[in-house]
Amino acid sequence: MLLTITTKRYPATDLGYLLHKHPAKVQTVELTAGSAHIFYPEATDQSCTAALLLDIDPVKLVRRGSSGHDFSLEQYVNDRPYVASSFMSAAIAHAYSSAMNGRCKDKPHLVDEAMPFEVTLSVLPVKGGEYLLRQFFEPLGYEVSVQSYILDEQFPEWGQSRYFNVTLRHTLPLKTILSQLYILIPVCDNDKHYFVGGHEIEKLMEKGQGWLDSHPSKELITRRYLRNIGPLAKEALGLIMRDDVLPVEVKEPKEKVRLHDVRLQAVRDLLLELGVSAVADMGCGEGKLLRLLMEKSAFKRILGMDVSYHALEIAQSKLKIDRLPEQQKARIQLIHGSLTYRDKRLSGFDAGVLVEVIEHLDLPRLQALEKVVFEYARPQYVIITTVNAEYNVLYEKLEAGAFRHSDHRFEWTRAEFEEWGNRIAEQFGYIVTYRPLGEVDEVLGGPSQLALFKR
Ligand code: SAH
Repeated sequence: MLLTITTKRYPATDLGYLLHKHPAKVQTVELTAGSAHIFYPEATDQSCTAALLLDIDPVKLVRRGSSGHDFSLEQYVNDRPYVASSFMSAAIAHAYSSAMNGRCKDKPHLVDEAMPFEVTLSVLPVKGGEYLLRQFFEPLGYEVSVQSYILDEQFPEWGQSRYFNVTLRHTLPLKTILSQLYILIPVCDNDKHYFVGGHEIEKLMEKGQGWLDSHPSKELITRRYLRNIGPLAKEALGLIMRDDVLPVEVKEPKEKVRLHDVRLQAVRDLLLELGVSAVADMGCGEGKLLRLLMEKSAFKRILGMDVSYHALEIAQSKLKIDRLPEQQKARIQLIHGSLTYRDKRLSGFDAGVLVEVIEHLDLPRLQALEKVVFEYARPQYVIITTVNAEYNVLYEKLEAGAFRHSDHRFEWTRAEFEEWGNRIAEQFGYIVTYRPLGEVDEVLGGPSQLALFKR
């Protein structure tokens, strides 16, 4: 893992004064899990580059007891010796401490001078990929270029790896750049070997001064920097955001339950707003939405349909359909069927609703569903909700690239959902609008997303 810092501000060798490291010498500092070497591949008045090379000792790493024990070989087979992560932060803090703290004995006037710098990081692991990497650095004014790698050339469908060569360009005082790298490198990685204690909040406050509180992703940065420690992140966010303190909840697993309720309420409210009276809940599952709909007399005809007979039995008993008075019983009907086959029973409704259903179908079957819902059933309105994959990075326990539910066949970003929805609307003659569901993150959107189609 290598960090280089280059400037062409004349005389470029002033970088040596700023970093407190003589360009003619190779220096080594010892770290808890290895060492860091500092040297200058180039040092002229026109251009000067300082390189910080991390040399992590995997054995020391294990002795330190800091690598997780998620699987038995992890201590031998892991990416830690090769990637940046929090060891790079530790190396920056050790090797460049006076520069980061704004001290320069011989040329103090350099400390606050904004200079053009080019920073390269290879290899930087980014959980959440290039999109998040840009979300972290671009709002601070960095020009970001990224070289990414596909996981396996023989299997391009596996997609991109989470490792990147990154180049950042900006004109800033060096101490600001170092502070931002110090915080953002481990935030990108989001690995768990990093020890987070109470003093980490102070470090975050100190190094984040002047930029973190106005960063659009401050919440995500704080949460990841203080990862896995809900109350700490909460306290830090309170400190960083001062007046506009947001209540920050540990997002899971409690939220899973809550999010679903939020989603169902939102769908019912929308149906009321649209003034529909006959609703088909397609893929109704155990009937949670049906129950909410039954509470409102505006809904005169309610149909629940699912491919799972077992789910329907549960719905039947939860809704106590057998014991309903005749008038109520006449409002609701449960039917067994699949949304991938044309079904006359689905015709004649004002609205069709599919809450978290589409992601359970393989793409070829989804195509069949599209026709069944939009061409044959063809209600005035169709409401479709699905998870927003971009939001997954906020679920700390979710591995990168993993799905929220084991039966999910895909999870879409907002752009992917909209691309799909726009195509459907065009193809079947509907107008579509989108909205987020649940607590919205400024950058990543809501945990779930909704599309409303109007014929
Ligand atoms: N809408 C419910 C359930 C969501 S889970 C809720 O929000 O609580 C997804 C549901 O889709 C499951 O109940 C599953 O049985 C149903 N489903 C999956 N494929 C289906 C298909 N081809 N036709 C009908 N329902 C289907």
